[in-house]
Amino acid sequence: MHTGLEDRARDYPRLARYFAERAEGGVGLMVTGGMAPTRRGWLAPFASSMLSPRQLPRHRLVTDAVHNADGRICMQILHAGRYGYHPLVVSSSAIKSPISPFKPRALNARGVEREIRGFVRATRLAREAGYDGVEIMGSEGYLINQFTAPHVNDRDDEWGGTTAKRYRIAEEIVARCREAAGRDFILIYRLSMLDLLPDGNRWDEIVEQARAVERAGASIINTGIGWHEARIPTIATMVPRAAFSWVTRKLMGQVGVPLVATNRINTPEVAEKILADGDADMVSMARPLLADPEFVAKAAAGTPQRINTCIACNQACLDHTFKGRTASCLVNPRACAETRLNYEQAATSRRIAVVGAGPAGLACATVAAGRGHDVTLFDQAPDIGGQFNMAKRIPGKEEFYETLRYFANLLDESGVSVRLNTRARAEDLLRFDECVMATGVTPRIPAIEGINHPSVVSYTDVLQGRVPVGASVAIIGAGGIGFDVAEFLSHDREHPASSTSPEAFAADWGIDMNLEAQGGVRSIPQQPAPPAREIYLLQRKDSKPGKDLGKTTGWIHRLNLKRRGIESLNGVEYRRIDDRGLHIRVDQEDRLLEVDHVVICAGQLSSRSLADELTEQGREPHLIGGARLAGELDAKRAIREGSELGASL
Ligand code: FAD
Ligand code: NAP
Ligand code: SF4
Repeated sequence: MHTGLEDRARDYPRLARYFAERAEGGVGLMVTGGMAPTRRGWLAPFASSMLSPRQLPRHRLVTDAVHNADGRICMQILHAGRYGYHPLVVSSSAIKSPISPFKPRALNARGVEREIRGFVRATRLAREAGYDGVEIMGSEGYLINQFTAPHVNDRDDEWGGTTAKRYRIAEEIVARCREAAGRDFILIYRLSMLDLLPDGNRWDEIVEQARAVERAGASIINTGIGWHEARIPTIATMVPRAAFSWVTRKLMGQVGVPLVATNRINTPEVAEKILADGDADMVSMARPLLADPEFVAKAAAGTPQRINTCIACNQACLDHTFKGRTASCLVNPRACAETRLNYEQAATSRRIAVVGAGPAGLACATVAAGRGHDVTLFDQAPDIGGQFNMAKRIPGKEEFYETLRYFANLLDESGVSVRLNTRARAEDLLRFDECVMATGVTPRIPAIEGINHPSVVSYTDVLQGRVPVGASVAIIGAGGIGFDVAEFLSHDREHPASSTSPEAFAADWGIDMNLEAQGGVRSIPQQPAPPAREIYLLQRKDSKPGKDLGKTTGWIHRLNLKRRGIESLNGVEYRRIDDRGLHIRVDQEDRLLEVDHVVICAGQLSSRSLADELTEQGREPHLIGGARLAGELDAKRAIREGSELGASL
């Protein structure tokens, strides 16, 4: 997986440390982020590449570090084709992709030959750099896929027209890379087994392609699911675990080389089941190894409860990568910061009070205790987790339970003294050397006429099950929580979410599990289940509701609510709430939403009263997470701030 550290020579020492920690953690075989084989194949101007011997020293930092840790590593060769974000882009045909503003130039026959030679040169250089193999990226809609599928390839020369001609580029690349690298070099081919586009490949074509690349010299075939432009989620948190291992299974027995299953494999139990059921010969994980470099070692030691599980949020990994920022991990801010953020033993042990066992407080308490401090963690609630206890109840966010399990175990292991059901007061804290305020936030109550009407409830009342919500509801505020509350209220026992079963998920999103439809998508997608109640989602801003949700997941939330008939309105002026419902003005017209309940999701304010009291008493408490700043708060920032403070105390 691309981390962003591959793009600049100066970041390779960091990249080397990142991979070395995963090799030390027991990973059997690693694959780097994609390296372009030619400038035309760049993902972005001057992005990661393997073009010339001048680049070898930086790559040797990586291969040496991994080999010193007894690991193995392949270099991925990725030609972005029309997904490149620069004016040099080329493709099979001059058809622009919906995810890049640059229209590609169609390669002529000489041009195709030149790009193939780039793959061969990159393979030769990878071998010289000490890599144990290469992975050729033939999936996710990148250049090779742009030749193999009719979705882009409209050529009628020797590189298009028939199935065999469309596949020729994959065969040529694999055969010539194999010839250049020799027999004792791993050559993985990442095959698009499910394009998830109506004019993607048919299953019989995919089997044919798999056999062709095997004959050409591939030693392993890895699974690719969905082009980046497909409008079906493939890795986000609402995708069930191992949701696509059935696709790899269909190819088992059709080729002789090992097959690798991918996508949403985030626990050892899920991985074991795939292998035990015979769905694949190997499993691969990307994000779970950002979340915990010791995943394999912990699984091997029989302590899976110690694994920091990837919750598939994409917030610090893919969302960063797609914004040109270095990847990290929401649950593990050390990911890609291994040379910068270290939890070394403290010189002297001090007594530290952490108030608030939300994500910020949990991170701070466990890091500080792990470093040898004597830490007491207070929370007024009966459980640890803060707002994660509401997040975990949202259909599609079940993975948030894992973070709570991880921290509960770590609190135990690191010897933090946990005081639940205990509202901390200033006088309780005076005996500590350091006080950390991780007291989070309280919901904002907007000044709307009738805000005290009995039909008005807060999202906390709804998500904590304190009020039964009626058959029609208006949600005030369309931020992350407004969207989540809409999702929550749209389900009930008769309208379950599709996030827990691959079959329900496939039916919900129109994926053809029989693989009879081209590209694996039904021509008439199944209509998603209607929402459990009538829901309006409202905001005052004129911008598109959900505009600020995650870069790689926001579209899923927006599309999901739209598909299910939830009405979202922007540019709304709230007039008043009374027995008849919520009175609004929108598009210069007055409108009455005759709803049973109005749910307030209008953002939050920092809970600081305890911090202020301590300051008045001459103490200097540390503030982290929502307590420090309520605006633009998310768990990524909360956990990062907690970890950084825990590392510095
Ligand atoms: P909190 O989680 O608010 O924790 C503060 C804790 O302090 C609470 O447990 C409280 O009981 C305790 N406390 C306060 N005062 C005292 C006191 N005096 N004594 C003892 N204890 C005290 N973020 C994301 O990044 N991604 C998501 O997908 C996401 N989804 C969400 C979905 C929902 C429905 C909700 C509600 C939130 C979601 N969030 C998400 C936001 C995320 O949960 C918060 O950003 C995060 O929890 C903030 O962490 P925190 O530790 O600062 O505060
Ligand atoms: P938010 O994203 O800031 O949204 C607050 C909403 O309330 C906005 O839609 C805002 O829109 C509205 N609002 C603000 N002041 C208002 C007022 N006085 N009257 C009426 N409406 C008002 O906050 P949030 O939804 O509470 O989420 C809190 C944090 O949790 C966010 O930072 C978010 O990143 C995080 N979170 C993330 C996810 C995720 O999936 N990544 C999910 C949930 C939460 P208008 O001002 O236009 O009306
Ligand atoms: Fe997984 Fe989220 Fe971390 Fe990415 S940021 S690795 S999706 S937990």
